[in-house]
Amino acid sequence: MSIPTVLALPYPAQGHVNPLMTLSEKLVEHGCKVIFVNTDFDHKRVVGSMGEQQDSLDESLLKLVSIPDGLGPDDDRNDAGKLCDAMQNTMPTMLEKLIEDVHLNGDNRISLIVADFCMGWALDVGSKLGIKGALLWASPAALFGLLYNIPKLIDDGIIDSDGGLTLTTKKTIHISQGIPEMDPRDFFWLNMGDTINGKIVIKYLIQCTRSLNLTEWWLCNTTNELEPGPLSSIPKLVPIGPLLRSYGDTIATAKSIGQYWEEDLSCMSWLDQQPHGSVLYVAFGSFTHFDQNQFNELALGIDLTNRPFLWVVRQDNKRVYPNEFLGSKGKIVGWAPQQKVLNHPTIACFLTHCGWNSTMEGLSNGVPLLCWPYFGDQLYNKAYICDELKVGLGVDKDKNGLVSRMELKRKVDQLFNDENINSRSLELKDKVMKNITNGGRSLENLNRLVNWLKE
Ligand code: UDP
Repeated sequence: MSIPTVLALPYPAQGHVNPLMTLSEKLVEHGCKVIFVNTDFDHKRVVGSMGEQQDSLDESLLKLVSIPDGLGPDDDRNDAGKLCDAMQNTMPTMLEKLIEDVHLNGDNRISLIVADFCMGWALDVGSKLGIKGALLWASPAALFGLLYNIPKLIDDGIIDSDGGLTLTTKKTIHISQGIPEMDPRDFFWLNMGDTINGKIVIKYLIQCTRSLNLTEWWLCNTTNELEPGPLSSIPKLVPIGPLLRSYGDTIATAKSIGQYWEEDLSCMSWLDQQPHGSVLYVAFGSFTHFDQNQFNELALGIDLTNRPFLWVVRQDNKRVYPNEFLGSKGKIVGWAPQQKVLNHPTIACFLTHCGWNSTMEGLSNGVPLLCWPYFGDQLYNKAYICDELKVGLGVDKDKNGLVSRMELKRKVDQLFNDENINSRSLELKDKVMKNITNGGRSLENLNRLVNWLKE
């Protein structure tokens, strides 16, 4: 039997590249070859961050390639509206050409395209070329429920047919049975910066939902225990989470491939020297930024906790440390091997922006979460973590809109001492992790996908 070749296409953002890369590594472990297609811009970053590791990547199993995203070298890729527009105009043709080249070169024929939901148009390309498809949804299933129900929300007059939101004030709405009530304003519309941009993104996402019926495989990085309601409301959405790197012995899985920044592994030996269950881990994902005042409060709040800390301050941070900041009890890195960090026995608490990957990684390691959401699904995730799962606490802003140093210290102390949250986190970890052990639901779903692919 020939080895199936899978083409994986992430949306160009770290929080989308990571789960699809993890899924790709799992497919390699299950006997597939994977061609991982980044945009040219991301490809350069991903390869650049690998340093010498690049030479040991076994390209016969996991091949990293790229196509243009349609933007110029100096265009702002954080402008999601512009990026989505450019991608939709350019990438389908480029992807088609790439696939034809793979086939012409006599490499294996591509048997499956696994695309991020936000690259749904890739399924149209696949369908045109007679290639099967699967979609990966990289956020909570509940939010998929929001997008999936957009036609109904248009009928109900909550969204206009142009992608605009008709709600002008905060309002929690009932979307559909099984989907937790939520305020759509918390998602793409208002926090996209300006509404025109938000509308472009929503129109783009609505377009992506049109490709859904081209495949039976709607994969999601979640589990039944975490999101029973949304999964029962959308039975076609298949949980395959938690998507965690296995850091195994095979060359394709031994490295954290796909990072935008080089991982600073020195923090692992620093962690080894800390007392068990003592360290506060602070990381806000790949694009959260603070203004100088908030950065000062964060730094001084970390000092005030008087605990060992590991703090990720990315290289694109433009803020300076306040003069009074000592940082003497901790370590600051530009980019951490986050999954390894969260799995380390010295980690006691994770101060997080509640990105879905960070959330899943925290829950899978039984680490209580101190939630400081910023944007998009993070607001929903925070509410779910604190109010529903009860494995974390949120930080509150003061009357100036800042999370003060005292508030940080208070909440860190509270979380370190909350036995209930601690034990619930560990119980939840066991339930979540069972999904990816033998006989677990998510592992079985992945096996079903691979068997279907090999048929
Ligand atoms: N991450 C990492 N090292 C860091 C910070 C983050 O490897 O120092 C990874 C983290 O493990 C997660 C991803 O970056 O897989 C961030 O995704 P998430 O959805 O949490 O947030 P986003 O970056 O999309 O806001």
